[in-house]
Amino acid sequence: MGTASGIIKALNSGIKHIATKRFTFRYPEQKLKFVGDGYQYDPDSGVGIAGYKGRHILFHDKCTGCQLCAIACEDIAEAIAMVKVPEQWKHNKKAIMPQIDYGKCVFCGLCVDACPFYALYMTNDYELSSFTKEALIYTPAQLQVKPKVDQDVEIQIDEKGANHG
Ligand code: SF4
Ligand code: SF4
Repeated sequence: MGTASGIIKALNSGIKHIATKRFTFRYPEQKLKFVGDGYQYDPDSGVGIAGYKGRHILFHDKCTGCQLCAIACEDIAEAIAMVKVPEQWKHNKKAIMPQIDYGKCVFCGLCVDACPFYALYMTNDYELSSFTKEALIYTPAQLQVKPKVDQDVEIQIDEKGANHG
């Protein structure tokens, strides 16, 4: 009797899920595209909200080398080092900009909040794994590159959680 009811339950569950949309996707061919409140990302500018679990984007034409981002990170992860850049900007006399070590960064976004010149933002570039620690250190030149947008699986986030779009 127990076995029979177990089979019926299993069949019932299987049948119920035939009509349910598949939630898994074929990563990395398919990737997530988060939309909805709290997950804004503008692919044109490369800018996402602070705290987004992707790497940063640095706008060299706005960075003054003030170091406030590095100071903000000091008590968090010490992930930011100010380094020389081979560029001349009137607004950045010392020619220094942040370099970020993603082996240390916890993606808190405090450096973004601390930047008074709107030069630093988070992006949706979350594929940061590497075989070496050195490759996790992103120079100012690497940080200015806009992430590629090739995600095609839309996930709508609402108060009930994630749903396929
Ligand atoms: S997001 Fe990363 S780099 Fe920025 S303050 Fe947090 S730990 Fe430091
Ligand atoms: S990114 Fe912003 S806070 Fe950091 S050095 Fe540049 S201007 Fe200052």
